[in-house]
Amino acid sequence: YGEKPDISREKSAELYEKAKKCFPGGVNSPVRAFKSVYGTPLFIEKGDGCRLWDADGNEFIDFCCSWGPLILGHNHPKVREKVTEEMQKGMSFGAPTALETELAELILKNNRFIEKIRFTSSGTEAVMSAIRLARGATKRDKIIKFEGCYHGHSDSLLVKAGSGLVTFGETSSAGIPKSFAEETIVVSLNDEEALKAAFNQFKDQIACVIIEPVPANNGLLLQSKAYLQFLREICTQNGALLIFDEVISGFRVSFEGAAGYYDIQPDIITYGKIIGGGLPVGAYGASAQLMANISPEGGVYQAGTLSGNPVAMAAGIAQLSELAKSGFYKELNTKTEEFTNAIQRYATSKNYAFKVFQIASIFWFAFTDADAIQTAEAIDPASMEQFKLMHRELLNRGIYLGPSGYEVGFVSVAHSKIDLEKAKRAIFECLDIVFKR
Ligand code: PMP
Repeated sequence: YGEKPDISREKSAELYEKAKKCFPGGVNSPVRAFKSVYGTPLFIEKGDGCRLWDADGNEFIDFCCSWGPLILGHNHPKVREKVTEEMQKGMSFGAPTALETELAELILKNNRFIEKIRFTSSGTEAVMSAIRLARGATKRDKIIKFEGCYHGHSDSLLVKAGSGLVTFGETSSAGIPKSFAEETIVVSLNDEEALKAAFNQFKDQIACVIIEPVPANNGLLLQSKAYLQFLREICTQNGALLIFDEVISGFRVSFEGAAGYYDIQPDIITYGKIIGGGLPVGAYGASAQLMANISPEGGVYQAGTLSGNPVAMAAGIAQLSELAKSGFYKELNTKTEEFTNAIQRYATSKNYAFKVFQIASIFWFAFTDADAIQTAEAIDPASMEQFKLMHRELLNRGIYLGPSGYEVGFVSVAHSKIDLEKAKRAIFECLDIVFKR
């Protein structure tokens, strides 16, 4: 069926053997181990623009973009220069620097939805702190999350749905006390009745509802604006806070993230990925009044040795300055839409059960007939076999996607029309292979 010989992975395999002696599963974050796709994980040597090179010298057009941060592509000259400049002055002081305020001002002046912000070093920390803020401010313990949304690996959030409409969560990782998981209620996305039932059952106990307003960690489960507005209303009616986890959607679907895209005011917003320009940064923000609960102003404790690290702030300033320029998102989003529309047209013309879901510069390849997939339960696990084959054949044609069919892809400004044309042709060939097998 036109399948190509596999790329060489000799050096990657050697590096993987060594890594396995150092790290559990040979990696520092599980999905990197290529458990859901073919072959040895690729060890990356360098990236430039939209391209990646692995240890064996294979070259790829990269649609993973470090799982989202690299909206300007790899090694963008402006980010590199700013980081290099700041690095000359030292790496970390554990004391305030002007850079933190510069990045905060850049964000706050261009964002109608938060008045104050606090920087952390990862998305996980940002979300964990936002939950603590919600609990501290409301003096309530329970939180509601949605099946199919990922919010990092803190204890309260590694919880999945049990059976039934409204369920106490079951831990989705060993090592989390059952009693912690019982503070997290898990409901399905796009289900107003389930949420109403949860609020009825736990009246005056819900501190917050947390959602990825653009759920992008378990496929791309795009919700309607009406549903997100319903979340806003039900939270207000019940004295619960609404948290938008915008670790992916922040600065991605617009400078103001999904809050701006849908024009919905959440109570707390979390950020990560893009905000750090490729270096480790997370953040959470809210009204000045709510943020006054955070220590040292208020009683909700949160801290970090490397929070607001000057080198990371420099990367964020350089990257977000580009994003704040007028027309930035329009151009990127139009380019992405043309790319994904062409792929969809091809698949439809061949009657393939394949859909490309897309919003702004995020896309997801779904092996399905359905016109919309809005809940985790609607994804057929069997379709991952098709993704697995597609992933292998794409690598063999120089196209790099994240190594799991549940992960979304990202387009950056560094993907030129020629790159996207090349990628499109490879994707067409791979679809033919998957569907003719
Ligand atoms: N929230 C969301 C929506 C995310 O996508 C992620 C990371 N994929 C996190 C939180 C956790 O961020 P980090 O990996 O930086 O800890």
